[in-house]
Amino acid sequence: MSGRCTIALIKPWPAAALLLCLSLLFAVCILPELADASPNVSMRTEPKRVLLLHSFGREFRPWSEYARSIKTELERQSPWPLDIQEHTLLTARFNGPGPEAPFVDYLGSLYHDALPDIVLSIGAPAARFVQKYRGKLFPDTPMVLSVVEQRLVNKSDLTDKDVVVAVRNDFLAVFENILKVLPDTKAVAVVVGASPLEKFWIDEVKRELKPLDGRLDLVWYSDLSFDEILKRASNLPPHTALFWGLMSVDAAGVVHEGDVALRTLHSVANAPIFSYQEPFFGGSTVGGPMHSVRETSAKTVSAAIRILGGEKPANITYEPIGFGSPKYDWRELRRWGIAESSLPPDSEILFREPPLWEGYRWQMLLIMAVILVQAGLISGLLHERHGRQLAEVESRQRLAELAHVNRYSAVGELTTSIAHELNQPLGSILTNTETAELMLKDSSPDLDEIRQILADIRRDDQRASEVIRRLRSVLKKAPFEVRSIELNDTVRDAIGLVRALADGRRIALTFVPASAGLHVKGDPVQLQQVILNLIINAMDAVSDADMKKREVSVSTLRAGSQAEIRVSDTGPGIAAADLASVFDPFFTTKPQGMGMGLAIARTIVEAHHGTIVATNQPSGGALFAIRLPIIR
Ligand code: ADP
Repeated sequence: MSGRCTIALIKPWPAAALLLCLSLLFAVCILPELADASPNVSMRTEPKRVLLLHSFGREFRPWSEYARSIKTELERQSPWPLDIQEHTLLTARFNGPGPEAPFVDYLGSLYHDALPDIVLSIGAPAARFVQKYRGKLFPDTPMVLSVVEQRLVNKSDLTDKDVVVAVRNDFLAVFENILKVLPDTKAVAVVVGASPLEKFWIDEVKRELKPLDGRLDLVWYSDLSFDEILKRASNLPPHTALFWGLMSVDAAGVVHEGDVALRTLHSVANAPIFSYQEPFFGGSTVGGPMHSVRETSAKTVSAAIRILGGEKPANITYEPIGFGSPKYDWRELRRWGIAESSLPPDSEILFREPPLWEGYRWQMLLIMAVILVQAGLISGLLHERHGRQLAEVESRQRLAELAHVNRYSAVGELTTSIAHELNQPLGSILTNTETAELMLKDSSPDLDEIRQILADIRRDDQRASEVIRRLRSVLKKAPFEVRSIELNDTVRDAIGLVRALADGRRIALTFVPASAGLHVKGDPVQLQQVILNLIINAMDAVSDADMKKREVSVSTLRAGSQAEIRVSDTGPGIAAADLASVFDPFFTTKPQGMGMGLAIARTIVEAHHGTIVATNQPSGGALFAIRLPIIR
């Protein structure tokens, strides 16, 4: 029943069922096989195993830079996935070969079951190591011995599985470059470490530099600790250069990884540093002919890819790579005053600092904009200042004129008193003269008495002259003129002008000067006017007072760095509501008053950088206090 049924089912679509079965078979079995077999489907390709052996350490310059470049290029160019395994032959660091056996055992067990597809060695110690232990570790694995100076290639142990990417050091070219760019150089201090490899190079350098005998003194630092090298390099005589050979281990046994040692030397040295290794170029050395990392790594990578692609290593050979075209660091050229014209014609100058304008275009534009705005502001301010100065001169002029008018009006009030003051000496002079004439009519005049009379006449004349001098000085129409004055004298002069008026009005006018001189900067005529105004106002205020209470006191004193003049009276004082207005122009409570005296007084005091205030005394009466800055 079931068999029949199946046949009955298949029968109508035999072709479709067959197609379905075939598709399933293809998807489940054949597709994965195809994927594995295709070299283009990288996910399924076995990676190529690359063993990279460093000589001193992963960060040991210059080899670290070659290794980095080789690795990067290899990964970029390889059509296969790569499994790069890096190892470091640390024993090469030590001053003397260390025990290698444990490291060999370690590598042996590591690669026992899965040998690398290729071994890449970087630097001479690594090349020597892989050659030495090839039989034990990876007898059939092809090797590329890279970055080995041609003199250090162990040619006798080379096999047809090896490719050598050798470099050639040309020390004479390096030292000739020093003499070309710095022709005055007399000595070169050679910085080199104390490992056996470094010692080998000392002899080589000496041998190669024979042609420079007598032209250049060579100073060797190989027996010094690096600290001592730094000390000497910071104090080199003029016309000396430094040659940075190699510094893996110094004489004190200290290992110097990376470029720290060179950078430290650069920071203290008082002479330019030269080297032939590109990894040291760019911050510390001047430059010149040097090995090119790119050229050496390109050849190494090309050899490795050809070998991994199945080519026989024996078919791949390279000539040792010499120095590339010279390169110089622009910053170092400037620092040591090396002219670009002294460089070889094919040289390249790197690290040029772009002109300020190119490097900081936006910042420069911003700064220029700020400067322009600032310049505009400054010229505007200067213009305004000039205008203000003109206005100040103008206002002083006006003030002087107004003050002059005000003085006339004040002096007008003093007319009676001045006339009285003049009358007194003039009257005495007349009386004395008449007396003297009478005495002279006598047959034997008393000459002593006459002499006495003449002296009196002279004294009275001087008194009258003094009154006129004071009057003249206060009425003088002079521009505002600032000079050093003694305030007590100024106050005394002003009091002298009103003394008679006070006497006439039966007012007790007293002056208590400060014990020491009060020196201020000011215009004596203007200040006298202020004091006169205050005294006249005070005398007006006490005029209606009881006879016993008619007192005006003037005093001067020092208050810190200021000189103070006080004018007080025993009058009714100023009404509390008026205290704030007394200095306003045209404020007056007097029937004939103008209300300009105190306004002018305040303007004059402020022009002297001082202050004037009015208060009422607790005992009654007003008190005006002026303060002016003391100059000494
Ligand atoms: P004027 O003397 O022409 O009135 P001032 O400016 O000199 O003008 O004085 C303004 C006003 O200040 C006076 O009218 C008076 O009311 C008041 N004043 C000034 N000094 C005194 C004082 N010592 N006692 C009371 N009031 C005073």
